[in-house]
Amino acid sequence: MATSPHHGHAPEHVIIVGAGMVGLSTAWFLQQRGVQVTVLERSTVAAGSSWGNAGWITPAMAIPLAEPAVLRYGLKSLLDPSAPLHVPVRVDPQLWKFLLGFTARCTGGMWRKTMAGLVPLNVQALDAYDELESDEGLSTRLASGPILAAFREDEHADGLLREFEQIREAGLELEFSDVGAAEIHELAPVVAPSVSRGIRIDGQKFMNPGQYVEALAEAVRARGGEVREGAEVQLLRHGQGGISVEVVGSAPVQGDAVVLSTGAWLPDLAKPYGVRTSLRAGRGYSFSVDQPAEGMRVANPVYFPYERIVCTPLEGTNQIRMGGTMEFRRADEPLDVKRIESIATNAAPLVQGLDLADRHDEWVGGRPVTVDGLPLVGPTDAPGVWVHGGHGMWGMCQGPATARLLAEEMTTGVVPAALRPLRPTR
Ligand SMILES: Cc1cc2nc3c(=O)[nH]c(=O)nc-3n(C[C@H](O)[C@H](O)[C@H](O)COP(=O)(O)OP(=O)(O)OC[C@H]3O[C@@H](n4cnc5c(N)ncnc54)[C@H](O)[C@@H]3O)c2cc1C
Repeated sequence: MATSPHHGHAPEHVIIVGAGMVGLSTAWFLQQRGVQVTVLERSTVAAGSSWGNAGWITPAMAIPLAEPAVLRYGLKSLLDPSAPLHVPVRVDPQLWKFLLGFTARCTGGMWRKTMAGLVPLNVQALDAYDELESDEGLSTRLASGPILAAFREDEHADGLLREFEQIREAGLELEFSDVGAAEIHELAPVVAPSVSRGIRIDGQKFMNPGQYVEALAEAVRARGGEVREGAEVQLLRHGQGGISVEVVGSAPVQGDAVVLSTGAWLPDLAKPYGVRTSLRAGRGYSFSVDQPAEGMRVANPVYFPYERIVCTPLEGTNQIRMGGTMEFRRADEPLDVKRIESIATNAAPLVQGLDLADRHDEWVGGRPVTVDGLPLVGPTDAPGVWVHGGHGMWGMCQGPATARLLAEEMTTGVVPAALRPLRPTR
């Protein structure tokens, strides 16, 4: 039985830094084990990538980003700033080192190895949500419904079907079926008539992410936790009474342990504690548009894999979110409006009945992408300092599952098997 290196006794009060899906799930699952929590967020709840993402809770599709096809996109992207994957040509040695490491992993063998680390998380993802949603204080729920992957060229679907075979071989259950034009338009009348091939994926879920994460923060508060906004953490100090967390402009906060869940900003605080795995912001963009007229409304997520565009109906609103792109730039750089326009331009021939010029909530967010494609979950080199993040494309989907495993390790000292490949100091 593997035990955690710093396990003396279970912490009574844990400070969690970052109020995204990952930090708040950590807080909730620690509370589930009787631990008092304080969440410190420098901005507002869901201020990072947990807000404008696509909200797909699709464990059967949560696969590594590094795969052979990315190499083809990557080369194209150097010449074409409107490509789904964009790497700005500039002098940033750390970024190029990251990209070289990432590129070296774009092989079938590495994909299978990374996938073997993700499968145990994916298998638990929906169950962890079921536990979270057993909380009556949580005012929202995941939505269910088929996902439609839609293609204008028949042969483009073959790539996705090959990927699905590999997913099944890796041990995940995936229910899918080929659908023709009639079913495509029944499932999603908003899809343009030129789209003639579809793949229907069942058994997955989705959410309005900003709304869900805000509801989760309220649930943590309702269970006695503190979620403090406007509290930027700048430093941790170890002392006799535990760890003192220094917050810009206010008094330090004391706890027995700290979990760093700061998404794409994780290296800023975690690097001094032996967390060496390179992590960069893989920035994605989104915007929302009004639902079309009654009878054309989008009820379920739609995915255009070839163009790498996702559409999600946003529960509680009359809007559809459209998102995509992967741009490797610093997390805090401003939104590049050309990337938004390129999503709208690429989407235009794929949909009907939507006004893509009347956009709301144009947004950019940094996915916390690790060079080796695995999250960072567990203890660091410093006693009482833990890390939880680096889920890349899939933090909404996998966050509660890894939070539950982390809470187990922090309170029992036993390292769950699924966390062994995810050690933050690997
Ligand atoms: C376009 C797009 C679509 C996506 N679609 C999906 C999807 O469909 N399904 C899915 O599972 N995932 C999706 N993702 C990925 C998902 O959004 C991320 O993996 C997830 O949100 C990461 O959550 P997090 O809590 O780790 O980080 P974040 O949500 O970024 O939270 C980190 C928080 O830490 C705070 N913080 C940073 N530094 C400090 C500090 N010093 N002190 C205090 N607070 C600090 C930040 O303000 C932020 O609120 C998508 C991402 C993008 C960009």
